[in-house]
Amino acid sequence: MFYVASTEFKSWQQALATAITDPNVLWQLLQLPADQLPAAERAVATFRLKVTHSYCARMKRGDWHDPLLRQVLPLGEELAQVDGYHADPLAEQSFHSIMPQSTGILQKYAKRVLLISTGTCAVHCRYCFRRHFPYHQAQLNAPLWENALTILRDNTQIEEVILSGGDPLILSDNKLRQWMEQLAHIPHLKRVRFHTRLPIVLPLRINAALLDWISQTRLTVIMVIHANHANEFNSEVYEKLADLRMAKVQLLNQAVLLRGVNDQLQAQVELSEALIAGGVLPYYLHLLDKVSGAAHFDVPKAQALQLHRQLQSQLSGYLVPKLVEEIPGQPAKTWVF
Ligand SMILES: *Cc1c(COP(=O)(O)O)cnc(C)c1O
Ligand code: SF4
Repeated sequence: MFYVASTEFKSWQQALATAITDPNVLWQLLQLPADQLPAAERAVATFRLKVTHSYCARMKRGDWHDPLLRQVLPLGEELAQVDGYHADPLAEQSFHSIMPQSTGILQKYAKRVLLISTGTCAVHCRYCFRRHFPYHQAQLNAPLWENALTILRDNTQIEEVILSGGDPLILSDNKLRQWMEQLAHIPHLKRVRFHTRLPIVLPLRINAALLDWISQTRLTVIMVIHANHANEFNSEVYEKLADLRMAKVQLLNQAVLLRGVNDQLQAQVELSEALIAGGVLPYYLHLLDKVSGAAHFDVPKAQALQLHRQLQSQLSGYLVPKLVEEIPGQPAKTWVF
């Protein structure tokens, strides 16, 4: 079996539709140990496998410990009940938002709101804090979007709209163009921010139509991408990041500190260097949210702090991400130090 190269796809939608969701296919493609397959089959019954060909092609065949593979690899460990790990670690589902009649809009912090625009992603990251999130109830369909617009118009203190998900760039260019136009009409809004993994896992998504609606808006566009390891960058990703910068998008990265992926100093140094080579500034390094099924990724806080201090001693200041954790009820992400 072979990967399908990006050049073989007619569109990003086709590439997305061809994402690998069957563990048997992943195992064959990457020549993974057969004795681990039954446990994987059990794990995907709780959270589906999903990974794009493009991302898979950056993994090393036969390497069970490949840092990209680990991020999407279903394991038997996910089924263990571990103390302190919960289905909704950030208490978002019970969160009292400014839009209590729906779950599609979250305001936890001053001057910015986060919209859960869609429940779909191009990859399923096994450590995702939303792996148990009831996405079907939390998508901005037309009435909810209208409702969100009304709330944004009425709350003049809001300056920034964060489109998150899921992955907001899964939405069509027609819809995103229309949303951007509607947001730009709200005078007190200054910025739109996208939290997206697609420039990394489905670079084909950064197409001419997307660059066009981005270039049209009066709003400052910020894209917070999500890469955890230097191996996630290849020439195709770098080309697309360059396109985004040409369209005046401010590029930032958030990563999650993950055991077995990027918990070594060298991996973090290389990640920051790979990011800045693409014009992306490291923004956040998150401690793992304690979501059930992800305990095998945990890096103890003391070790995280030590790693972060070493990173500071190795890199230019702007290449050191802020080490943060999310504590429900706090007015911002909490800096760990
Ligand atoms: C993380 C988050 C934000 C963004 O916080 P910044 O510190 O500005 O990046 C906004 N709203 C919610 C609900 C969040 O979880
Ligand atoms: S892309 Fe983001 S939201 Fe989607 S599964 Fe990965 S971490 Fe979760």
